Amino acid sequence: MKVWLDGRLVEKQDAKLTVFDHGTLYGDGVFEGIRIYSGKIFQIQAHIDRFFESAGAIRLKIPYDKRQVRQFLYETVKANDKSDGYIRLVVTRGEGTLGLNPNKCPRPSLFIIVDDIELYPREMYEKGMPVIIAKTVRTSPRMLNPAIKCLNYLNNSLAKIECVDAGVGEAIMLNEHGQICEATGDNVFIVKNGVVITPPSEAGVLRGVTRGVVMKLAGRLGIKAIEMPVGPEELAAADECFLTGTAAEVVPVTKVDGRPVGHGHVGAITKKLIKAFHEFTRSHEAE
Ligand code: PMP
Repeated sequence: MKVWLDGRLVEKQDAKLTVFDHGTLYGDGVFEGIRIYSGKIFQIQAHIDRFFESAGAIRLKIPYDKRQVRQFLYETVKANDKSDGYIRLVVTRGEGTLGLNPNKCPRPSLFIIVDDIELYPREMYEKGMPVIIAKTVRTSPRMLNPAIKCLNYLNNSLAKIECVDAGVGEAIMLNEHGQICEATGDNVFIVKNGVVITPPSEAGVLRGVTRGVVMKLAGRLGIKAIEMPVGPEELAAADECFLTGTAAEVVPVTKVDGRPVGHGHVGAITKKLIKAFHEFTRSHEAE
């Protein structure tokens, strides 16, 4: 495996950062997770744009422009000879001193990993996934905006531990107001009376690239798709529920806290959107 690290392609065992990197010491950095489908980098521009936005929001100046990052991504995919897979693009604050001050880190570190990913067991895509509502509340946008895809995932990791302990696939996190926010690494959708609903960015969610694609595909299928706050009671009364994310793709949710969603099996609209999503990933619009 070849890893792109600060301007060079190196072997996996040589892909190392210093322990003085503020990415390690403080989780100071941002990242993207991106899919490769049939040799094309899925929604590459949306991911690069969000990467630069996240970096800008923490005042981290990426030492390359967007066009260069695009080129590095394709270079790494090619070096690993992957036509389907997953890319992790990361920029950290870089090496600094044992104090928080980011200004003492002169040069950010950028690396790109190309690998495979399978987030959930295959059968969950056909039969649906049980989830819990986590006790861990999602970070408030007033504390650390979840729209910034940063290296501080401890909040989500704690919710992930809850769902692993509960023996289910995912944990849906509420925001500080008790509304549905997002899963540990995915956006949440419900379907009620034929309408597809997902919490708005003000609910404190990451504006998922997959979320955006699914909203667009719903529109094309003539299914009304809206952003609206969703309470736990609305999730409990939903006809269907599904999660979206780069690694997750579109995964149906059939149980929340042990209670079935709708009739307890994968809903018709969820099925349509899963099919449309897979077609889209193989279409000329994928990139
Ligand atoms: N929310 C969180 C917290 C995430 O980490 C992710 C990405 N894994 C998503 C939502 C989904 O975003 P995308 O569709 O861009 O992968």
